[in-house]
Amino acid sequence: MFGIDADSRLKNLTDMGLFRHVNVYSSKQDAEIVVDGRRYINFCSNDYLGLARHPRVVSAFQQASDTYGVGSSASPMICGKSEAHEILEQRLAKRLGRERVVLMSSGYMANLAIISALITSRSHSVFMDKLCHASMVDGAVLSRARIKRYRHADPDALKALFEADQSAVKLVHTESVFSMDGDIAPLRLLADLCSENQACLIVDDAHGFGVIGDKGLGGLDYFCLGESDVPLLMGTFGKALGVYGAFVAGSNEMTELIVQHARPYIYSTALPAAVAAAALEALSVQEQETALRTHLFSLIDRFRAGLEAAGIYQSLSTTPIQPLIIGSIDKTMNLSQVLLQNGIFVTAIRPPTVPQNSARLRITLSASHTEDQVDYLLEVLCKHFPAERR
Ligand SMILES: *Cc1c(COP(=O)(O)O)cnc(C)c1O
Repeated sequence: MFGIDADSRLKNLTDMGLFRHVNVYSSKQDAEIVVDGRRYINFCSNDYLGLARHPRVVSAFQQASDTYGVGSSASPMICGKSEAHEILEQRLAKRLGRERVVLMSSGYMANLAIISALITSRSHSVFMDKLCHASMVDGAVLSRARIKRYRHADPDALKALFEADQSAVKLVHTESVFSMDGDIAPLRLLADLCSENQACLIVDDAHGFGVIGDKGLGGLDYFCLGESDVPLLMGTFGKALGVYGAFVAGSNEMTELIVQHARPYIYSTALPAAVAAAALEALSVQEQETALRTHLFSLIDRFRAGLEAAGIYQSLSTTPIQPLIIGSIDKTMNLSQVLLQNGIFVTAIRPPTVPQNSARLRITLSASHTEDQVDYLLEVLCKHFPAERR
């Protein structure tokens, strides 16, 4: 119909094992969730600190919806920005040691906003890690800049691209913790290389913020980097902070440029005030309850030690994201099914989310898991992990 060919395109996805199913849950987001009436231990959520159901965060959300209502009613520049937004921006700027923070509706929109606001010519260049998140790629596409991808986490590859580039504006965009592999970008080396080449380094800290670094403030905290190393920092509230939304942090000038020029900021309804209030409370809980991170990292060590003891292939990741790369789509789907049958929820990640032949189970650990739950996961994995991947 209409030349769109929906039938054959959908059938094609099914034939290739790439048709995806959207699961619906009916419980609180916690270490255990109920899906289709069955209870599972959840090992694929990004709620790394278990804050999505934290009583203080939930209560902040409830109180703020009494105060402000549930919808923000307009974009930030019309009448959608509340005092709750303002307080969160100021508190976060202070905590991150930045001049200013601007809230965005989501991480996806923040990435569209940043790149498209900074680029003013098709002759400008955006350099990106090969494994960057789809939203970063889409931001670069929207900006119409020249896009140059460098080999994953490889500063030498970036250097070679710089040497062949004459653009007046060079932006470099990387994740801190890579979303599907859990490894950490060499931010210190990238920052040095960028400053030698007058390139602006932008870090997407979606999976680092709240978790890694001395204070758990993310990739910059982890490498002790500041504003001069990474002029623009993007982070989200939907992962370790357990809420929703995102932010961009930087100098007054750079952030104002984004406010003035970013269409995803100007033409979209603001984050609800109650969401901002919940994120603010989550930020306090993250700061005060340091035991959450201690527990999380001890679970990561426990899981990795368990895999090693069982002789199962291990990634280098030391973050809550622990990929088990299987390769074959069928085998990955099978293992995911076996885990489901054993009451463990881990969805398979397939191309194009990850490169061809690298289908995987993306296991994520959270402070809300117990040691027993991690041991049970290991027990089931050890029993069913494909022999040729050991
Ligand atoms: C999840 C994610 C985003 C998108 O953030 P949302 O707030 O979920 O839209 C952006 N970048 C990376 C690296 C992510 O993992």
